[in-house]
Amino acid sequence: MGPAADRFDVVVSGASFAGLALGCGLGQALGPQFTIALIDRGAGLEAAARPDARASALSAASKRMLEVLGVWASVADEAQPVTSIEITDSSLEAGVRPVLLTYDNITGEGDPATFIVPNPLLYEALHAAAAREPAVTFIAPAEALDFASEETEVRVRLGDGRELSALLLAAAEGRHSGLREAAGIRVVGWSYPQTGIVTSVRHERGHGARAVQHFLPSGPFAILPLKGNRSCITWTEERGEAKRILALDDRGFLAEVERRFGGKLGALALDGPRQSWPLEMHLARRYVGPRFALIGDAAHGVHPLAGQGLNLAFRDVAALIEVVADAVRLGFDPGDAQALARYERWRRFDSALSAATFDGLNRLFASDLTLLRSARELGLGLVDRMPALKRFFVGEAAGLTGELPRLLKGEAI
Ligand SMILES: Cc1cc2nc3c(=O)[nH]c(=O)nc-3n(C[C@H](O)[C@H](O)[C@H](O)COP(=O)(O)OP(=O)(O)OC[C@H]3O[C@@H](n4cnc5c(N)ncnc54)[C@H](O)[C@@H]3O)c2cc1C
Repeated sequence: MGPAADRFDVVVSGASFAGLALGCGLGQALGPQFTIALIDRGAGLEAAARPDARASALSAASKRMLEVLGVWASVADEAQPVTSIEITDSSLEAGVRPVLLTYDNITGEGDPATFIVPNPLLYEALHAAAAREPAVTFIAPAEALDFASEETEVRVRLGDGRELSALLLAAAEGRHSGLREAAGIRVVGWSYPQTGIVTSVRHERGHGARAVQHFLPSGPFAILPLKGNRSCITWTEERGEAKRILALDDRGFLAEVERRFGGKLGALALDGPRQSWPLEMHLARRYVGPRFALIGDAAHGVHPLAGQGLNLAFRDVAALIEVVADAVRLGFDPGDAQALARYERWRRFDSALSAATFDGLNRLFASDLTLLRSARELGLGLVDRMPALKRFFVGEAAGLTGELPRLLKGEAI
């Protein structure tokens, strides 16, 4: 690589949810004398250029971090708290749908454990917060092609021939991260024979701030409450069936939604576009290399049934900001090897455990063997009667278990 390169302290490749939060948080933690480049190959950084029908279930811990970063105020009006959760797994043909498990989704401090936020709004708020940081420079559209780590710096080559140098390079490039590959980091994982379908509906009656997870043999059908009489549907369907359903006209598509949604909230109408995603589980074998770190979906991908992918990404962000800020305060540079090793120890085990848990749940519920079904009913029936276990479930959803980075506790760095 040539000698002349634009110099930054930190370069982040991928300016979506994880990359924007990292840029914004590092800017706040390190101050304006540090320089951070956020690059993205997307043609436009505006939300309008990135159509996304999804709404994300954000944990109470993610909300705390977004408050500290100054992002939450911009999404608060549209963030729908989830105060109770209902789980059911009756078949589609069942006339009556007995509820397997319900619980109050409230943390020990009395706050909702989860909030549903439309993705475009969250993206816009993160982007605005990163843009407010004097330390942050956006470089887009630009694609990171590869990089070389040297003892004192890392050099990143862009698609247009430009070169950037930095003390730390973070890849927040999503599941198909090219820099992860350039680093020679292998991933373990597999594709699910399922497709994720997302859409929004309007319903006659109010949802009462309740989220519903309806486990069907082909995958879970989640109803996530939005502000007003609206809900976002995140629906996992067997691949062939998903293809058929996605090709239906609006009337046919709505009829398929209605079959799964049930009649509790009255008449339904479609209230947004439909989108679909192939689903896979993956885990990078390493999260760091010399002057290099992976965050978000570049490091791990989990089944969407528990709505935790983005929450895990925010955990990575909070942990990386903390180890880098601590290193800088001790006089080390942001790409310090020991700081990165601490980040990897902190995050890899936690995300591997989550990926395995969600994978196990998907397999358990995707089976329609009668024996398994009764065992499952027994299992969840027991949980329904055990307040301590329910509290554990709520703690997990709230993201308040395990060793929390300071930002996820709502503390400034
Ligand atoms: C159907 C579905 C529902 C979901 N629901 C939830 C939920 O309820 N709650 C939750 O927590 N999570 C949920 N998730 C998961 C969540 O959406 C992801 O975990 C999250 O989007 C990951 O964000 P990211 O920033 O890591 O990656 P991405 O959002 O994938 O962003 C990657 C960015 O990197 C850029 N990029 C890639 N390569 C390069 C390159 N070489 N150079 C420059 N730029 C590059 C891309 O343009 C993009 O902007 C869901 C996922 C799916 C599929």
